[in-house]
Amino acid sequence: MTLSISSLSISILSISSGAIWLPQSVNMFWLRLIYCGEELKLAYNTPIPTQGKHTKPFWQGTQEGKLMLPRCQDCNRVHWYPRFICPSCHSTNLEWIQGSGEGTIHTFAVQHLAFGAWAEEAPYVTAYIDLKEGDRMLTVLRGVDPNKPEDIKVGARVVVEFDQASEDMHIPYWRMVEE
Ligand SMILES: [Zn+2]
Repeated sequence: MTLSISSLSISILSISSGAIWLPQSVNMFWLRLIYCGEELKLAYNTPIPTQGKHTKPFWQGTQEGKLMLPRCQDCNRVHWYPRFICPSCHSTNLEWIQGSGEGTIHTFAVQHLAFGAWAEEAPYVTAYIDLKEGDRMLTVLRGVDPNKPEDIKVGARVVVEFDQASEDMHIPYWRMVEE
């Protein structure tokens, strides 16, 4: 039995210090599992970000199904992506909070052309998510048909979910919720 999971939230672009993912950065990872007496291959063949020191709490949270978000203790604003200083007041007095994992679609686009492993995914939908706690996160949107963009509504509710990409990395995705 072979299970192939090969998609990735491009929200991780924001976590990797603004780096642009290049084809040569594609990280192949195969996780072998024993499932019901058969070998199950979990293939995650789109780029996996490198864990940075300041993003560690985020990645640790994803392993537990938690969406951890950075918040400034001086102005109380949540910001995304993680960084060393608050983008609102420039304070370095930051903390991590557990987000609700809920949000709404701010805007979206259907991607018809992609490179590397992403080419196999096209067409797919990318979206900016307005986080319930504040600020926005870029994602590959799930629960939608890229061939029916008229069914995707700005303001629609979304919830986060996580895909295991490696032994210690889970990638967040957002899924549109049926109303
Ligand atoms: Zn602040």
